[in-house]
Amino acid sequence: MIELEHLTKSFNGKKVLDDISLSVGAGEVVSIIGPSGAGKSTLLRCMNLLEVPDAGRISLGERSMELNASGRGHLSIAERFRTTWLRTELSMVFQQFNLWDHKTVLSNLMEGPTIVLKESRKEVEQRAHGVLEQVGLAEKAHAYPSDLSGGQQQRVAIGRALMMRPKAILFDEPTSALDPELVGEVLELMTNLARSGMTMIVVTHEMSFAKGVSDRVLFMENAKIAVSGTPDEVFGHPRLANYAAKLGASASPAPRESAPEAAAPDASGEAEGRS
Ligand code: ADP
Ligand code: MG
Repeated sequence: MIELEHLTKSFNGKKVLDDISLSVGAGEVVSIIGPSGAGKSTLLRCMNLLEVPDAGRISLGERSMELNASGRGHLSIAERFRTTWLRTELSMVFQQFNLWDHKTVLSNLMEGPTIVLKESRKEVEQRAHGVLEQVGLAEKAHAYPSDLSGGQQQRVAIGRALMMRPKAILFDEPTSALDPELVGEVLELMTNLARSGMTMIVVTHEMSFAKGVSDRVLFMENAKIAVSGTPDEVFGHPRLANYAAKLGASASPAPRESAPEAAAPDASGEAEGRS
């Protein structure tokens, strides 16, 4: 459903994405792991054109967009307009939530569909209440982000992404800014979304999620996808030895004990047990 072909991106002459090709099927959950600076965030941001790749092709469903060297890192206003579909159909969830502080939770959820997609307020408001229920915050519709915990704010941000009825959601380290005791509630919501069939691409340091919930794991290093495969294949790969050692004992892979069927129900429990 999502297809990236030969994406490249440089910043100040330094290659940050080096000929990345990737295809993600509908309903697939892909985790991207790897050291800081590997290019993980840039890959997500290039996927929905928050950052413009220097070259390559991005396809989503039936539609496709070719980037070429002549436009190096820029889109004209007309091109920006023509590619709105890519930004709306691939919703993004950020580490820092990025909610509007001066708007209520309900308004935060309604903003995208009413302003960008020009849908009717009445219908959108109804849908927003349903989404708040789904993310477990039905009673917070009229609260402001500052009234909420970090975990609740991130659940609002996930709700806001869902409001766009995206083809896929891209998560960039969604639990990295949270206090340890709040990580579990967000991972639990993400796990539920994954089980409901949502297509998800998740940059994460939460190995419990990468191992227990994803269909596929990509290990990025030096602007490339260095290893990709099932969680067992990737976590058992010798190339990850250094990375795994740095993550420390709690996150280090334990392929022997964790049979795939045992790993899934463990995912949220392991996360809650972190603190
Ligand atoms: P990761 O998410 O894996 O930590 P990033 O994609 O954020 O890595 O960054 C990869 C490299 O690109 C880093 O060296 C970073 O400093 C650089 N980089 C990222 N964004 C920009 C930018 N907007 N301008 C210049 N350099 C950038
Ligand atoms: Mg990053």
